Amino acid sequence: MYIWQKNKWEKLLARKASLPHAILLHGRAGVGKHVFAESFSHALLCQQTLPTGHACGQCQSCQWLKEGVHPDFKWVTPEDDSAADSNTKKRSGKKSQISVSQIRQLYEYLSLSTHQVSGYRIILISPAEALNIASANALLKMLEEPPENTLFLLVASQPQRLLPTIISRCQAVDLPMPSQAEASTWLVEQGINEAEASDALAYAGGAPLAALAMQGQLETNQKLIKQLAQGAKLNPATSAPLLLSLGMEQAVEMMQKWTFDLISARLEQSLHYHVKLASTFQVLCKSVNLSALMQFQRKLIELKKSANHPLSNEMQLENILLQYVRTFNV
Ligand SMILES: [Zn+2]
Repeated sequence: MYIWQKNKWEKLLARKASLPHAILLHGRAGVGKHVFAESFSHALLCQQTLPTGHACGQCQSCQWLKEGVHPDFKWVTPEDDSAADSNTKKRSGKKSQISVSQIRQLYEYLSLSTHQVSGYRIILISPAEALNIASANALLKMLEEPPENTLFLLVASQPQRLLPTIISRCQAVDLPMPSQAEASTWLVEQGINEAEASDALAYAGGAPLAALAMQGQLETNQKLIKQLAQGAKLNPATSAPLLLSLGMEQAVEMMQKWTFDLISARLEQSLHYHVKLASTFQVLCKSVNLSALMQFQRKLIELKKSANHPLSNEMQLENILLQYVRTFNV
């Protein structure tokens, strides 16, 4: 877990003896929810926790967790299908859904005699937004009749995308954003220089893990920014695959940030995400149609809602880029 989560960590750990069957950890994307959930799971399963309540990292349980073979811990996440086509262009992006068969496997797992070395079985579902209707309903049945000594930990950045019936079965715990200083100190500790850290944090809306993750895609981001800066001359067919290489959600988010700043520039307000690109936006906003751009922004919100559907993401992005191009007066 991270330093800015210390409070929540202590509060939750103090309730170790009387935890509910299901906890929903929510908070902004990139604040470290998954790591928190993992640390918490490890602490619950560890056989000789440290005085701070953290896992020892040494015992049999901790060894199993490190090797990913702990009999009482299951992490349910979309199964990656990118390995199959990693030699090709990885055009499909990451698989984005938790399938109903994955949840059925959980049934089997939970109905088998338990090991419960540490008294608990933990099912980590992260990201929980990846549940589709079928898998969410299958999970709901389990949450309605929770097996003994089993803790379901759901992790979500957008809990509004979960079934309300699932939410109502969970105790919600929100994980906080770090302060600007905490986030920036942490990024510097990860080897990023201070100036870059502050740019990255601005772009990531203050979320440190998101800022760090961006460091790995700086090159792609730079290329995309150059293409988006072409405005009406952008070629949707060539930009769509590059945009999709970020993953569908990231792709839509990038377009949202770009559009947000373009609207700001058009309204002569200061930029929020692309603070160093003032001159680019100044040129670009001269030829953009404001009402078309606002309409485009609403389309992006719709697209974000449906971004979990694996069907034809590249076509969706090509279509949205075409609409972007049309917001310019030519
Ligand atoms: Zn341990």
